[in-house]
Amino acid sequence: MTVTVRFAPSPTGKLHIGNGRPAVLNWLYAKSQGGTFILRLDDTDRERSTEEYADGILEDLAWLGLEHDALHRQSARFERYDAAAQRLKQAGRLYPCYETPDELDRKRKRQLARGLPPVYDRAALDLTDEEREKLEAEGRRPHWRFKLEPKTAEWDDLILGTVRVDCKSLSDPVLIREDGSYLYTLPSVVDDMEMNVTDVIRGDDHTTNTGAQIQIFEALAARLPRFGHHSMLIGPDGKPLSKRLLGDYTLEAIRGMGFEPMAVNCMLALLGTAEAAEPLLTLDELAKGFDIAKLGRGQIRFEAQEIERLNAGLLHKTPYEAVKARLAERGMDSPEFWEAVRPNLTLFDGAAEWWHVIEGPVEPVIEPEDADFIAEALAALPGEPWDGSTWKSWTDTLKSSTGRKGKGLFMPLRLALTGLRHGPELANLLPLIGPERAKARLSGKS
Ligand code: GLU
Repeated sequence: MTVTVRFAPSPTGKLHIGNGRPAVLNWLYAKSQGGTFILRLDDTDRERSTEEYADGILEDLAWLGLEHDALHRQSARFERYDAAAQRLKQAGRLYPCYETPDELDRKRKRQLARGLPPVYDRAALDLTDEEREKLEAEGRRPHWRFKLEPKTAEWDDLILGTVRVDCKSLSDPVLIREDGSYLYTLPSVVDDMEMNVTDVIRGDDHTTNTGAQIQIFEALAARLPRFGHHSMLIGPDGKPLSKRLLGDYTLEAIRGMGFEPMAVNCMLALLGTAEAAEPLLTLDELAKGFDIAKLGRGQIRFEAQEIERLNAGLLHKTPYEAVKARLAERGMDSPEFWEAVRPNLTLFDGAAEWWHVIEGPVEPVIEPEDADFIAEALAALPGEPWDGSTWKSWTDTLKSSTGRKGKGLFMPLRLALTGLRHGPELANLLPLIGPERAKARLSGKS
């Protein structure tokens, strides 16, 4: 059976780095097995779901390069959920409850006070028809709970290994609210079943949910998918990525900061594995070595330095051809330039700074104690044409004529040629700066 997975975000907010993780993991899982990747918008919450958020999700996924094979919206499938709910009602597995949130809260408090787990007591199952009619006549509308069987769900998790959830310790989950709207639990099962999803890969905040959902699959006589629960990202403070922090960590913000999509993909796919150190250039390469069983179980700390490190590592190995168009757009289309500056970049946009250093104007720095040396260096500049060996022959000459070496030799030249104490290899920069500008700068002119 073809592997089919889905990424199922709710368009009730922007995607942040944490919920980008199931997107990347599902996509790679499908790709690595020639499978299908479904994008499913979990938009049953009609008040909080917006088109704008849905568009944002599509944009983020397109930026990451995670193309989907199919797109579904839960809001277009209510009749499927109604049909499933009907089946569950007929089987006696979905029952109406009339408690108000306040009443439920009081029950929970009483249970806790007596040292009992706050599990729903199923009082609604004991209501007679008359009592129900009376409640309805008072204007109460039911919410509907799924009746769990008192058993333990057990599955062989793709990431966690054997997982057991004791359903006796769970409240019967509410599947339909008082206003008739669906919570996430049932539509998700119906979709996974009808869209032939073979593998449900999602955050480990859903593990308990899976225990209950397995019983819903069974009640609807559906084949069970495999499940994989990945660990969640936590913030630099060791706490779950909270709303407070999300502003900085939305994929939109990360994109706006100029990070490469592959740095994000690598971070989300590799963190928690032994391969985390080495970024890969393409999704195909990432998919080739992808094995979901290698993912660790522990929480993963998201640190800004990590994405910077991956982004830099990625740029350092990016060949010119891969960035030619982007360089051309910015008027910096030169293979030699890219070779010279890429080892110094953390963000692609940093290339512009080095372009400026080459093109000028720059303010040459010539310390008084180096003035004679720089004058000698100017006189010793090799003839044209200049190439990758010019720097070496020039500095070899200066080494023997002046006795200078190491920093004492290179730093005054760097300061005069670029005005800076750091930067790309001068052997690569010098031919790009060229004789005319080099002469001017060594003469102290910008
Ligand atoms: N909409 C759910 C969420 O974002 C989907 C969970 C799932 O993948 O089943 O948590």
